[in-house]
Amino acid sequence: MKSQSIHFKSRASSALDNAVLQDNLRRFGTTGLPAMRAKAVEAYGAGEFERLRDAAQAIRQRVIANLDVWIERFQREAEKRGATVLFAETAEEASRLVIEVCRQHGLTKAIKSKSMVSEEAGLNDALAAAGVTPVETDLGEYIIQLAGEPPSHIIAPAVHKSKDEVSDLFESHHGTPRKTDTPAMTQEAREILRKHFLSADLGISGGNFLIAETGSGVIVTNEGNGRMVTTLPRVHVCVTGIEKVVPTLEDVSTLLRVLTRSATGQAISNYVSLFTGPRGENDTEGPEHMVFVLVDGGRSSLLGGELEDMLRCIRCGACMNHCPVYQAVGGHAYGWVYPGPMGSVLTPAFTGIENSTDLPQAATLCGACSVVCPVKIPLPDLLRTLREKQVDRGLRPWGERAGLRAWSWLAQRPALYAFASRIGARALRGLANREGMIAWIPFASGWMKAKNGGRFMPAPAGKTFRELHAERVRAERAT
Ligand code: SF4
Repeated sequence: MKSQSIHFKSRASSALDNAVLQDNLRRFGTTGLPAMRAKAVEAYGAGEFERLRDAAQAIRQRVIANLDVWIERFQREAEKRGATVLFAETAEEASRLVIEVCRQHGLTKAIKSKSMVSEEAGLNDALAAAGVTPVETDLGEYIIQLAGEPPSHIIAPAVHKSKDEVSDLFESHHGTPRKTDTPAMTQEAREILRKHFLSADLGISGGNFLIAETGSGVIVTNEGNGRMVTTLPRVHVCVTGIEKVVPTLEDVSTLLRVLTRSATGQAISNYVSLFTGPRGENDTEGPEHMVFVLVDGGRSSLLGGELEDMLRCIRCGACMNHCPVYQAVGGHAYGWVYPGPMGSVLTPAFTGIENSTDLPQAATLCGACSVVCPVKIPLPDLLRTLREKQVDRGLRPWGERAGLRAWSWLAQRPALYAFASRIGARALRGLANREGMIAWIPFASGWMKAKNGGRFMPAPAGKTFRELHAERVRAERAT
């Protein structure tokens, strides 16, 4: 998928002006996944959940410390059980490998279960160009495929769509009378997808985890589509990142407990599917061929570096669910596969910091993301690291650099600094309206724009902190 992250500011601005999107995001923020996670953590016990997060962090860190060893172990065990393991250095190479598999087995129709790595690879477009019809089967992914849009959230890909928009899409693509009742719409999608499940010869899934000791893949779903994708077609290809490997089945059970609670507030997802090799002699179902395509796509370049912690990510989506920036602008503003705080680290890391200069700035550094991250990734620290790298490489706008240089010069001259602060405080006071609120500040128009049309800031006293403090000291001495 071609990154549009360089246009974050204009995309965020359009998102703020989109009334339907704002309404959907508001409902998502107030009644959706954050509240469900909070309830699940409370039910589990906050202290116990912290211990679970520690355990999950340790498991992921153990893998990252010796990633090559665990990948080799996974490959050995998977091949021992009849699967083929292919490696793709880039996401584009992953697409080429999947198309080769299609040619080798004469495959023409693919049913897909959600795979963010296949979004990185632009796999649907590549398949279509190679004459293979891709059909997304996760309901959210199916909706956005009909809309011709990328996902806006890693676990709720169509969260930006209203029910009315989905009704319109179904009416125009299914050629059936428009429905507005959610169960009826779901039933309609189910009936259409069922035919695709039964006629496809290729199943493409992602992989939440790869188990090194058994050579198995694991996916968690709530709709059961993943199970059909991995068992019905005669070939199953699992496309996932190299960092998804974990040592043991026992480790997966720990990670699952923390993943589903963090993602959707569920103690466990409706389906947890493990796939190990192709159909055996005595099996009554399963694919004839099982292929793992393990994608690097920039992951190995993070090993041993300042952003290495990001490789622990288990793609739960909790950081974006709790991010005030994501809640204001939604996922499409970020311009690539991964939105929210994790995307603001992964996108520059995978596609180059020069191609996504605003993403590390698209955070208030409030810390909510790291508080909820199930594997304790210090996202604000990583965002600060990226900001430093941008400054080191001279990637910040000249106005910002000139402003900081001027501030630095001033800050080294205390008397002048105090004088300039006095002027600044009075100037800000002068910008206040009759209600004592400021609606516009020079060079800060981005900060003042908000979903309700504008953000207001209470005007300061018109005096600096030092002046106010000195006044108070004088008053206390006088009494
Ligand atoms: S960074 Fe943490 S919270 Fe965000 S998706 Fe990854 S694991 Fe979940």
